[in-house]
Amino acid sequence: MRVHHLNCGSFRPIGGPALGCHCLLIETDQGLVLVDSGFGSQDMARPRPRLSRLALRFGRIRFEPLDTALEQVRELGFKPAEVRHIVLTHLDFDHAGGVSDFPAATVHVLAEEAAAARHRRGFVARRRYRPVQWRAVAKWQEYRPEGEDWFGFPAVRALKGLPADIQMVKLPGHSAGHCGVAVRDGGRWLLHAGDAYFDRAEMHPQHPRCPAALGALQWLVQTDGAARRLTQQRLRDLAARERDAVTIFCSHDVGELETCQRLAEQVQRAAARPAAAPAEGTRGGAA
Ligand SMILES: [Zn+2]
Repeated sequence: MRVHHLNCGSFRPIGGPALGCHCLLIETDQGLVLVDSGFGSQDMARPRPRLSRLALRFGRIRFEPLDTALEQVRELGFKPAEVRHIVLTHLDFDHAGGVSDFPAATVHVLAEEAAAARHRRGFVARRRYRPVQWRAVAKWQEYRPEGEDWFGFPAVRALKGLPADIQMVKLPGHSAGHCGVAVRDGGRWLLHAGDAYFDRAEMHPQHPRCPAALGALQWLVQTDGAARRLTQQRLRDLAARERDAVTIFCSHDVGELETCQRLAEQVQRAAARPAAAPAEGTRGGAA
């Protein structure tokens, strides 16, 4: 498997820092897999009515078609039809907008999230979930995490049609059925934590904090504040405990995205380098 870290959208909520939409494009034996989809080409071309007036007014979204997963998939030399699966952390408009650019892909999501997005109960739900973005999805695959676990988190280990190296990890609080997506990348696990937190400073082991505007935004859109705070604490504990085994990042922190892109580049360069010395004595196992 090869993992690409893409930025599929840029915005800057009023009063807050510049944010990205960190998505993964994974090359697998079962075709390309997208983790989250950011904003799609139709969001860029005709934002209304795909996005709510509130999001347009306060989100300060950059409407740049080149930001979409669709264009970046092409730029990497793939055909959009090669994207066979999309695994979503949740169905908020800034994560699910790109789904419509890959109408043949199977969309994997937690069942609780799918139900909340279809019912759209309440002021926030009607603005965060935009059915027009995912109306064309041909195949949904829904899951209820039960029993299995990933480093102590409830998880779905067997995603239909996908390798066990890609799993959904329940990270409750932000939306009704919010999850992270764990991806085994060589000898490590990556955990795309979605919107479990918005800023890397929230993961500081002793002094977690958050820029005020982002804190307010998270509070405004959370479905369960206590669950969200517990999720964050558990992620901090995981990061400290499994430093060598797990790399955690969220959707919107641009600094984390750049770090991931740099590390992925280094891994690729190292892999492309011809072996100069015998491999004896080196730690093997990475296929
Ligand atoms: Zn988001």
